[in-house]
Amino acid sequence: MAEENISPEQLKALQEKIKQMSPEELKEFQKKQCIFCQIIAGKVQSRKVYEDEHVIAILDINPTNPGHTLLVTKEHYSIMPQLPEEEVAHVFMVAKALSNSILRSVDAQGTNIIVANGIAAGQRAQHFMAHIIPRKENDGVNFVLPQKTMEEREIEAIGNKLISALSGSPAEQEKPLIKMPEPKNKEEAKKKEPAKDNLDLDDISRMLGVK
Ligand SMILES: [Zn+2]
Repeated sequence: MAEENISPEQLKALQEKIKQMSPEELKEFQKKQCIFCQIIAGKVQSRKVYEDEHVIAILDINPTNPGHTLLVTKEHYSIMPQLPEEEVAHVFMVAKALSNSILRSVDAQGTNIIVANGIAAGQRAQHFMAHIIPRKENDGVNFVLPQKTMEEREIEAIGNKLISALSGSPAEQEKPLIKMPEPKNKEEAKKKEPAKDNLDLDDISRMLGVK
């Protein structure tokens, strides 16, 4: 890594430079340092499996399981809270399609869709992405979440804090948190056929282990 060769003086100068950057300059600087922005710009090779106006999906070169796919926004965002709502919606629609395709193509029994927001959450790259990881029983991947014990009143207190943070005050809760985009033509939206890539009953049964 290039950072290893940098002297303490150079690092200090760089930190000063970063501090004086405008938000636009800072974003450009981050993009230059970002391997995923380099991939999107076509400067670094990748195994692309999907691309549209907003996102690309590439195979992870060190996959957790074969078929492990990284779904990356074309715009450089560091974490999910920075994404505009339409982009979040788009990312998860594509994640659904990728998950379905992965289930069929690598004969998986399930998928994990993971977003790490922040280093404490295990985020390694500075560029937002969703991991779509194919899963099979006994595949040696361990996502078992610990189940801690908590007092009822502690759960209640945290619940109240969260409700206030979401809506301003618990009384305002009836307002929807996020406005959904209205379909341009409501009649047309109703007539629209369900997406062809929806899972069929056999796929779902296999994921749930029902024969
Ligand atoms: Zn980037």
